[in-house]
Amino acid sequence: MTTQKYYQKHREEILKYAKEYNQRIEVKEHRKKYYKEYSQRPEVKEHITEYRQKHREEIKEYLKQYYQRPEIKKHIKEYKKEYQKEYYQRPEVRERERAHDRIRDKLPKRREQKNKGNKKYCEKPEVQLKNKIYRKERWAKLKLIVLTYYGGNPPKCACCNESRIEFLTIDHVNNDGKKHRKQIGSPTGGKFYRWLVQHNFPNNPLLQVLCFNCNYGKRVNGGICPHEKARGIVKDMSELK
Ligand SMILES: [Zn+2]
Ligand SMILES: [Zn+2]
Repeated sequence: MTTQKYYQKHREEILKYAKEYNQRIEVKEHRKKYYKEYSQRPEVKEHITEYRQKHREEIKEYLKQYYQRPEIKKHIKEYKKEYQKEYYQRPEVRERERAHDRIRDKLPKRREQKNKGNKKYCEKPEVQLKNKIYRKERWAKLKLIVLTYYGGNPPKCACCNESRIEFLTIDHVNNDGKKHRKQIGSPTGGKFYRWLVQHNFPNNPLLQVLCFNCNYGKRVNGGICPHEKARGIVKDMSELK
């Protein structure tokens, strides 16, 4: 049997095999490597340049159509995405981008844009809810830290032993809270608690934990909680015995 005849008889099989063979990674790699070497040869290079010049328009047209193909477009898009992802994760690129951002953020236009974007983002209901939960959690954490420092673990009211966190607050033992707050820039609520943490829990003027009832009672009762007065009466009565 001649080669030609053999080929005709087994045409389908051979084509199938060739297709499979060409798909193999090692074959592709080998071809790529070979072609690279081949195209670097001076005579080949010259030939390629010549060919390109001669068929410039044809090649241009072919490439134009090639890049218009949906599967090629898709492939390029995916490749770009993948590459960009990898590229922007490189430490040196990330650092550079951050540095650029810092400069760009100083431009008035950019700042305006960013603020606008932030505002839009923050106005989304799900973002607002998330922020609300976050603020609540952060406040609870801060409050617990401060109250534990000044009111023991677990914190409780120095006057009536109330221990539910929601009822507790920081109290100035010597009723100099107003003066003290004014001295440190009048922080209120969470800001005052944060100030205490930032200043390493100072205790001058003296601070303690009271419940809101005792705190209020103390304020409207000349600096002594009504509980204290009642206790005093009981004490007096026991002294009478
Ligand atoms: Zn109390
Ligand atoms: Zn009290």
